[in-house]
Amino acid sequence: MTMESVVPPAASAAARLPSVDRVLGTASLKALVAEYGASACTAGVRSVIEELRPAALAGGAAPEDLAPQAIAERVAARLAAQFAPRLKAVFNLTGTVLHTNLGRALLPDAAVQAVVQALTTPANLEFDLATGGRGDRDDLVNELLRELTGAEAATVVNNNAAAVLLTLNALAARKEVIVSRGELVEIGGAFRIPDIMSRAGARLVEVGTTNRTHAKDYADAITDRTALLMKVHCSNYEVKGFTKSVPESEVAAIAHARGLPLAVDLGSGTLVDLAQYGLPHEATVRETIAAGADLVTFSGDKLLGGPQAGLIVGNRDLIAKIKKNPLKRALRVGKLTLAALEPVLQLYLSPEHLAERLTTLRLFTRPQAQMKAQAQMLQAAVQAAVGSAYEVRAEPMLSQIGSGALPVDTLPSYGLALRPLNVKRAGRALGRLEAALRGLPRPVIGRIASDALWLDLRGLESRDEALFTQQLGALADAMSQQS
Ligand SMILES: *Cc1c(COP(=O)(O)O)cnc(C)c1O
Repeated sequence: MTMESVVPPAASAAARLPSVDRVLGTASLKALVAEYGASACTAGVRSVIEELRPAALAGGAAPEDLAPQAIAERVAARLAAQFAPRLKAVFNLTGTVLHTNLGRALLPDAAVQAVVQALTTPANLEFDLATGGRGDRDDLVNELLRELTGAEAATVVNNNAAAVLLTLNALAARKEVIVSRGELVEIGGAFRIPDIMSRAGARLVEVGTTNRTHAKDYADAITDRTALLMKVHCSNYEVKGFTKSVPESEVAAIAHARGLPLAVDLGSGTLVDLAQYGLPHEATVRETIAAGADLVTFSGDKLLGGPQAGLIVGNRDLIAKIKKNPLKRALRVGKLTLAALEPVLQLYLSPEHLAERLTTLRLFTRPQAQMKAQAQMLQAAVQAAVGSAYEVRAEPMLSQIGSGALPVDTLPSYGLALRPLNVKRAGRALGRLEAALRGLPRPVIGRIASDALWLDLRGLESRDEALFTQQLGALADAMSQQS
């Protein structure tokens, strides 16, 4: 008997695993080192070898899987996945234009250029070019916001939730804030007015009932502990039937008669009358200020169509007080946000061009006939890709604005409806189709309703159409592998 034959079988299998250096010595690994660097490659080889060790010890690994070249291929796949972005571009064909889970507003090119420059070049973020002294980052957009809203002053924070938190903490800590019971909203993602109120250190005083609140309810609730009256836009719901709410102008009059301010959380907060673009009317920030609101808070990335931000506009003294609050420093925006926000606000100076230049508004106002033609053009190719187990039809459908803006209004749209022909197994077939679309290099996100998968083409502008059709081959492959 030779020495080798007494080595237990497990150990001899493990011994067939090549050393880390042996794998690093292969030509494939040398190419990978040139691309990703030695440390990432060495770590990759180590972890692939560790992954294979249990199977090798148990004698369950095929010898060809333990060859240095096979290991090198696994390392290559692992590094490619590690270096691929987790934040991926997708096609938003859900029909919800401002989809919070898909990143809300898409920004116009002017904003993109400004962000690229801010990322790569020093800028006067907090530097006064006139005096050479220190500047205030809010000044970059202050003028524009005043001009566009009619307010005396403005400040910008990270998002509208932060704007509400900061406003309440700065103006109402340890004091009372009066809000109608019909306006205690919850926005998706755990933003609830009562919770924000307590985190801000203010005490919520609810008045009225869920469906009806009267002027007298506000007036009767005011005490010497009251700091603020507040109105909150019912962004994502509507109370219908036997209802009453008190308009901003009346609540403002009640507040002002007692020397108190009125704050309005507008949520989406549009800067233009959307009716001029054929969309439903939504109270503008300017109208709200004109109605007597002393402070208005709203989002940058909802109807406004800009970057994620929270805008606070209103009375000069109140804004000054808000800016002195230490939370402002904690919630302030970075230069990328301001770089993107400025050109977006500038677009509003030319309302005639807005529907063409502001991406979100262009998507909201796409003519149905355009999307219909697109659906008819894509129908046959999509049908061929998904195969004969589904029927693909070009059909009218309804899009939504999204992010809680105008929740009950829909926009007439057009797109593709994909229906499984085997109705008994429709649920599973739709799930498989949805998964295949999600698995594409640029995932396609649609919506399942009424036993169909709907691809609303409002979200597919012509410049992305070629990319969409190029992927149909991969979709066909994915679908045929499933069946
Ligand atoms: C969306 C919304 C918020 C939160 O705004 P974000 O920018 O998402 O933080 C707050 N209040 C209302 C009424 C809203 O609609």
